[in-house]
Amino acid sequence: MRKLTKEIKVGNVGIGGNNPVRVQTMNSLPLRLVEENIEQIIKTVEYGNEIIRLALPDFDQISYFKAITKHSPIPVIADIHFHHKLAIEALKAGANAIRINPGNFGSKKNLEEIIKALKDYNAAVRIGVNSGSLDKNILKKHGKRSYVALVESALEYIKIFEDNDFFNLKVSLKSSDVRTTIEAYREFSKRSEYPLHIGVTEAGPIPEGIIKSSVALGNLLMEGIGDTIRISLTAPPEEEVKVCWELLGALGIRRKFPEIISCPLCGRATINFEKRLKEMIPEIKKRKLPIKVAIMGCEVNGPGEAKEAELGIAFSQGVAFLFKKGVIYKRGNEEDIIKEFLKTLKKMEDERSTVL
Ligand code: SF4
Repeated sequence: MRKLTKEIKVGNVGIGGNNPVRVQTMNSLPLRLVEENIEQIIKTVEYGNEIIRLALPDFDQISYFKAITKHSPIPVIADIHFHHKLAIEALKAGANAIRINPGNFGSKKNLEEIIKALKDYNAAVRIGVNSGSLDKNILKKHGKRSYVALVESALEYIKIFEDNDFFNLKVSLKSSDVRTTIEAYREFSKRSEYPLHIGVTEAGPIPEGIIKSSVALGNLLMEGIGDTIRISLTAPPEEEVKVCWELLGALGIRRKFPEIISCPLCGRATINFEKRLKEMIPEIKKRKLPIKVAIMGCEVNGPGEAKEAELGIAFSQGVAFLFKKGVIYKRGNEEDIIKEFLKTLKKMEDERSTVL
């Protein structure tokens, strides 16, 4: 069961409490490419992204940040390092939240200035503690970058925010090591009610990054820990969003698009099968329809092996079959049956949106 955390707001998106686990990602382009950044955000939204983070490296880029934020259809989090005045400028420029690693912001006084601006602009903060940039004093005390040091660091910073009557915050405790990440979030979750943004930092390229993130986030989500997720990949942001959804769907937590069941292939499959699969997947995945859909390599075992699919297609030497819940209800040539399969999915999506 999901742990009930405090509810906070990033723009109009609720996080924690009874809200669903939120999906987020980060743009990968320099801010000066304003149009491209807006397009990148819109593309991630098409795949179901709910919150976007933009890195704001220096004061010269505030005007770009402002222009992108103005046109973003989803709340924007500014990622700030080192300059507390820059955090304040980001809020002035329209950021719905800022992500800071408080260890980078010098004195307590600087943090207090940020807190005042957060209140003035009714914004949220993510306290992002990272094993690579732990506070020097905490590192000295623990002697190494352990999960305990990460948790202690986060709790210390939270205290500063609470002492200044600020509570609209969420926390992340990231490490590039899977075990440290899991242990840090577990420990923090025992000791605090604030919502958690979970992720593995610098997880790597595909497939390494997907595997590391799925193991860490999968374990945590199964234990009910995690209110927002990011799959950090060396890949375009929409790829991160797709993986977020697949992970949430695989765990039965949240699904937005169809889950594809496809067979591993064997000697019974037709030679065209892989080509068909590649053509059909993007068409299937664009449907906002949280159902199981099957694409199988033969009609002998395919429908039976994919009984749980609400709609399926199986192939056999130039002929294809449509089936529902394991029962074949139509056969015809491949092209016609593929068209009908995709048309049926579209119809199911339309009917669902009418009901909703
Ligand atoms: S569905 Fe048919 S082709 Fe695919 S693995 Fe099963 S038996 Fe082989």
